[in-house]
Amino acid sequence: MSSSSAKTSSIPTVKLLIDGKFVDSTTTEWRDVVNPATQEVLARVPFATQDEINAAVAAGKKAFKTWRKTPIGTRARIFLKYQQLIRENMGELAALLTAEQGKTLPDAEGDVFRGLEVVEHAAGIGNLQLGELANNVATGVDTYTLLQPLGVCAGITPFNFPAMIPLWMFPMAIVTGNTFVLKPSEQDPMVTMRLCELALEAGIPAGVLNVVHGGEGAVNAICDHADIKAISFVGSTKVGTHVYNRASLAGKRVQCMMGAKNHAIVLPDANKEQTLNALAGASFGAAGQRCMAVSTAVLVGDAQKWIPELVAKAKTLKVNAGTEKGTDVGPVISCAAKDRVESLIERGVKEGAKLELDGRNPQVSGFEKGNFVGPTIFSGVKPGMSIYDQEIFGPVLCLAAANDLTEAIEFINANPNGNGTAIFTQSGAAARQFQEDIDVGQVGINVPIPVPVPMFSFTGSRASKLGDLGPYGKQVVLFYTQTKTVTARWFDDSTTAQGVNTTISL
Ligand code: NAD
Repeated sequence: MSSSSAKTSSIPTVKLLIDGKFVDSTTTEWRDVVNPATQEVLARVPFATQDEINAAVAAGKKAFKTWRKTPIGTRARIFLKYQQLIRENMGELAALLTAEQGKTLPDAEGDVFRGLEVVEHAAGIGNLQLGELANNVATGVDTYTLLQPLGVCAGITPFNFPAMIPLWMFPMAIVTGNTFVLKPSEQDPMVTMRLCELALEAGIPAGVLNVVHGGEGAVNAICDHADIKAISFVGSTKVGTHVYNRASLAGKRVQCMMGAKNHAIVLPDANKEQTLNALAGASFGAAGQRCMAVSTAVLVGDAQKWIPELVAKAKTLKVNAGTEKGTDVGPVISCAAKDRVESLIERGVKEGAKLELDGRNPQVSGFEKGNFVGPTIFSGVKPGMSIYDQEIFGPVLCLAAANDLTEAIEFINANPNGNGTAIFTQSGAAARQFQEDIDVGQVGINVPIPVPVPMFSFTGSRASKLGDLGPYGKQVVLFYTQTKTVTARWFDDSTTAQGVNTTISL
């Protein structure tokens, strides 16, 4: 991070969004946004000052007074318009995302599209934010619930899905009547900002959506701010745990979706070709930088003989810049991330795993400075090895072995993480045993990356999640609203007064 005024540089600056205006920060702390395939500096992102964060929250607090009472139809129509604008700008959004994040252009469109689905869902809020009513709970008495917005809510997002994950958060928070302060990843904030520009163009009023940038300081300021009522966080387990503890102590509602070690079980009765394709795609796609990437495959019985074919398949994947046609694996996000992945590969070798395919230092002509790591496969991986115990977040697949399904399930349940998992089999009975006994939030049956569509909620568990309600879907409507329960009786002139009643009955 550099400490200088952005105005002395010709490189564009990323703006803050406060009270409906995109403004330059007055901070002296800036960080470069770097293209991971070329090291070109694309922009400079400010680390917002405490005053700027306070101004963003104050704008949200002021706007909440009117936004919370804005009719459902008005709110819904903004998101109808917003989904149309995202579709119209899909190409530009994907190009921006690939430039700053590195993933391939088709995968970048997928990133935007999975967020767009949440925007579409938000447009259906009329059917989602419904209370309940019980008629005649006592004579002439009805009880009903109101799902009321909380106030200013905040979102803190990671680098790996800079379109999808912000769109998991602010559309559902805002459409339920809240106002929002977003703190995007400082590593790739540009596509997020473009999405915010489109949100304003769709009609989100001034102060309803605000954006501040920064790192630890901005996150801590959000955790501590008395006027922020709820925080949605997605990122690593270390930071998420800190956010959960700090913000909960400050009395906020918090949901944290965190790190992972996702296992796939491969039974020998699985369709071999489909399974190997799925494993390679889910392990090496997005250079392994998905929280739902398959990072460990547990090969059961004769499926252990498939390793050479899996290696052969991985070798066919093309490592190149995300902008190049036919690329399968783009760069990892930063030089530091590349160093970390490579040093973990080194440790894997030292700790006794068998390096079946070494993806270090691939030659990528025309992009020699890029942060590339090619598909890497280890077999003989066991708990206690760093490559198994840590989330590598790179294109590295660990292979472990089990004698039968029960042993494979026990192996996965012994890992602390519970984000995603999958089984590959043609046996309905095996799949059913897996879905019943596995202690992981999101389960795929012949589906390698089972991220739920937005009519459901993202449902990580154990060390991958803190807080009970997940992002998007029905659960997030409850997360972003306070249930108020009203018990009402209306008297008319003919009702006879019953005198004072000192018992608890209605
Ligand atoms: P990260 O935890 O480093 O950063 C997430 C956010 O926290 C960023 O906005 C960052 O600015 C902020 N931050 C970073 N360090 C901080 C600190 N010390 N104190 C306070 N705030 C801090 O995560 P990342 O590297 O951007 O993203 C990758 C991680 O996110 C992986 O662990 C991945 O599994 C996880 N992830 C989880 C999900 C999920 O749904 N479970 C989805 C995507 C990513």
